[in-house]
Amino acid sequence: MDLGIKGKWALVGGASKGLGWGCARALALEGVNVVMVARGAEVLNQAVADLKKEAPGVQLIPVAADITSEAGRVALFSVPGGPGKDFDIVVTNAGGPPPGDFRNWDREAWIKAVDANMLTPIELIKATVDGMAARGFGRIVNITSSSVKSPIDILGLSNGARSGLTGFVAGVARTKIAAQGVTINNILPGKFDTDRIRNTVEATAQKTGQTVAEIRALQQAQVPAGRYGTPQEFGALCAFICSLQASYITGQNFLTDGGAYPGTY
Ligand code: NAD
Repeated sequence: MDLGIKGKWALVGGASKGLGWGCARALALEGVNVVMVARGAEVLNQAVADLKKEAPGVQLIPVAADITSEAGRVALFSVPGGPGKDFDIVVTNAGGPPPGDFRNWDREAWIKAVDANMLTPIELIKATVDGMAARGFGRIVNITSSSVKSPIDILGLSNGARSGLTGFVAGVARTKIAAQGVTINNILPGKFDTDRIRNTVEATAQKTGQTVAEIRALQQAQVPAGRYGTPQEFGALCAFICSLQASYITGQNFLTDGGAYPGTY
């Protein structure tokens, strides 16, 4: 299926690895030019170099910056060769907040989580959405978490901050931009095989004395699909939501978790 987005410009956060990388790759393979943002220049430049081999016809521009900072956003909107703020597609994504007990989180911990997982996507939407509406096409996809639908006890910072973003998006997606070709949706990952999962599994192993292999097997057995998801699968869904075919889908939350969420609705 031709997704009809060849030649568009996308901004993808957290694009050097994991889910952001999956989205950047899937979009690039559809002929979309991508500004790829991540904090570490070395891993990011390698990811861009590798992706250029797979998608030689598109422009891929790395920006090594912290997307949660004002300076980082200025850098990505002014990168030479990029589209400025005139992105057609924006995939918001940054690292998730740390796990823990809410009794230990002070105001600073909360502000950091809300900044990264709620206010940064809102700033990116604010900077790009009116331009999209004026040009008659726009796709915003926020990478959130299955924790929005089914909270995870130790991830209270994520449950809270991402729910705030979800409420905001539900409202703004239904304003007049919906009639101007702009859609805003969220993808809610369950368990995907990325560094994030690897780090949390290692932390659990140290805490419990179980091996990494045991914990991975246990976690995967709890998913009806019997495995973790892959960044490639995640990227494919993201690219479809960004397609012309998905023009009539907005304000939605796409849970992608191998069936882990047990509810009927
Ligand atoms: P990851 O650790 O594999 O990759 C994170 C990427 O984001 C890296 O490229 C990193 O450089 C970049 N990044 C982190 N903070 C950044 C910042 N401030 N500015 C710019 N780039 C930044 O993580 P992932 O598994 O791909 O997760 C992506 C998001 O999805 C996270 O918010 C995570 O909490 C959430 N999530 C992941 C899973 C999962 O199973 N992997 C499940 C639920 C939610």
